[in-house]
Amino acid sequence: MKNKAVFLDRDDTLIEDPGYISHPSQVKLLPGVSESLIELHKLGYLLVVTTNQSAVARGMVTEDGLAKIHHQLEMLLGNEGAHLDRIYYCPFHPNGVVPEYRKESDLRKPSPGMILKAAEEMEIDLERSWAVGNSYRDIEAGVRAGCKTILIRSAARPVTGTASDPTPFQTAVNIKEAVNIIKMYDRQHHVGGDSREEGSRSVLAAAAVQSSMTPTRAAVPVAPATGNEPDAAEKRMTPTAPSKPKVPEVQPAEEAKAGVNQKIQTQEARHASAEAPEASETAGNRTEALLEEILRQLRASRRESLFDEFSFWKFLSGVLQVVVVFCLLLSLYFLLGQTPPKMDAVHLSVQYAMVVQLMVVAFFLMRDRK
Ligand SMILES: [Mg+2]
Repeated sequence: MKNKAVFLDRDDTLIEDPGYISHPSQVKLLPGVSESLIELHKLGYLLVVTTNQSAVARGMVTEDGLAKIHHQLEMLLGNEGAHLDRIYYCPFHPNGVVPEYRKESDLRKPSPGMILKAAEEMEIDLERSWAVGNSYRDIEAGVRAGCKTILIRSAARPVTGTASDPTPFQTAVNIKEAVNIIKMYDRQHHVGGDSREEGSRSVLAAAAVQSSMTPTRAAVPVAPATGNEPDAAEKRMTPTAPSKPKVPEVQPAEEAKAGVNQKIQTQEARHASAEAPEASETAGNRTEALLEEILRQLRASRRESLFDEFSFWKFLSGVLQVVVVFCLLLSLYFLLGQTPPKMDAVHLSVQYAMVVQLMVVAFFLMRDRK
């Protein structure tokens, strides 16, 4: 039976996206990513990152630099007991400034090239697989490849689609909710995990042993070997011309996985002991995901926005609202407090109140628009 996989976008799906990441120090995991990846592995999915990296074509980072960035990502995940099976990236862009990378490419999302390449190399059944990302390019690539799709619609960085964009199978606020959706789907459709988890664990165990025998950069591919892949030792020993564009390659999980096995088992034990009734677990996870998203938005919001409550327009609106109340009280006075009632004064007061009230509404609208 073929493998099933989750194809994950990188920026704003797994890690924060400050624009273009050009240095490993900029790699920061989003909340809940490690737990989510561990959960997906437990469900039997291979985890494959597919990411457009036009920063290479734009001359902002080299492929070697990108390898270091991805190594940092794997290190951060490894520290929390999680790992990726492979990372595919597309360095090309038609408007790039580096000549060898300036071109259209089928690998570049929304084309499904990276997913199709991974499916071929890793023996993945695309119908049983998912594509998860925060842009419609991720969704289109997933749809064109024949996967189910989840659009991560982060309120901190909302995406807007057009009429021509494909409709995602589901939407989620972050990857944790996306994992819950996949878990629920698998339960409803009786999709069980396969032996991938055990296989992955055994490969990791082998990785731990091998890397303990290799002082540095023990390149240990985690994904199951196919006949077409060069083996890890061969990759290490084959020199690569730095100026020649490489075919988007697998970034093997390296020494980050050494010693990770123990952590994974600890995490799994924790997960196993935390097994709760399905419905409450899912609701709890969803609530937790939403709370984390809210917290992230609050942290990301600018400081001055916190003081927006004291805007001039709001102050002016408050003063005018008092004037409205005064005019209405005045009209009541002329209506009930005078014999006979002074109807002209009543009408005048009410008209003033209406005009000023309209001004208040206008100021509120102006403030919101601002
Ligand atoms: Mg993205």
